[in-house]
Amino acid sequence: MNTIVEPGLVADLPIPSYTPAGNETQIFELAWQNRLPLLLKGPTGCGKTRFVAHMAARLGLPLLTVACHDDLTAADLVGRHLISGEGTIWSDGPLTRAVRLGGICYLDEVVEARKDTTVVLHPLADDRRVLPIDRTGELLAAPPSFMLVVSYNPGYQNLLKGMKPSTRQRFVSLSFDFPAPEREIEIVQGETGLDGARCAQLVKLAGALRALKDRDLEEAASTRLLIYAATLMQSGLAAEDACRVAIVESLSDEPATIAALMDVVRAVF
Ligand code: ADP
Repeated sequence: MNTIVEPGLVADLPIPSYTPAGNETQIFELAWQNRLPLLLKGPTGCGKTRFVAHMAARLGLPLLTVACHDDLTAADLVGRHLISGEGTIWSDGPLTRAVRLGGICYLDEVVEARKDTTVVLHPLADDRRVLPIDRTGELLAAPPSFMLVVSYNPGYQNLLKGMKPSTRQRFVSLSFDFPAPEREIEIVQGETGLDGARCAQLVKLAGALRALKDRDLEEAASTRLLIYAATLMQSGLAAEDACRVAIVESLSDEPATIAALMDVVRAVF
């Protein structure tokens, strides 16, 4: 889903909470001040999107988020002519809007996008900071407050796709990983209000499940899934059921794997 935080609304929105792991908020701020684009690397559900939303709100900048997929083209980012009653009208895409507004454009899972997107991203990501709009002949200079942020998950499914060195060497890169246990307990509790003891059990479960990654599971249990389970538990669902539907069933379709993961759940709860 793509989201747009309009500039007029920025000041009225609460700042989404974000528990930092280290000095990533300072790095983001320094990158923004120095007009450097940022690449966030890390597994799904570990806080990249929340981090960007938090920083955009802190800096008072409009945020345009694009969830990239394998059909996403440069025109989807830049814009296109639309046919209307009076003929054709130009409609800015989210990247162009972010440049015009001087906001943050966040391209989530950028390696999923079609290769033609690099043609528009490269001149914007290096020191030229321009967006060429071929179809209108415009060359849009990015204002100082504009920032390009992209993310990608260097996990198994991207081994072949990867990110070209010519693209990644245009970005300052920050690595994200699942939070350390104390921090993850704090996050799950802060997001759901579930009592600390049960949050700690969920985080312990996540640790046990993450140890199985690579051997039996394609993706590790994310903080997002722990938050889903905690939300259901906080609403009264038994821990075992919450872990099954929010965590285990999301990690595997294999009956034998599901049964094994449920044994891990029962060992923790
Ligand atoms: P990603 O973009 O890496 O896939 P998200 O940013 O969507 O992951 O994180 C998933 C959820 O986990 C968020 O909605 C938020 O509830 C929670 N979360 C993860 N990390 C943090 C953090 N450091 N502080 C607060 N919430 C977090």
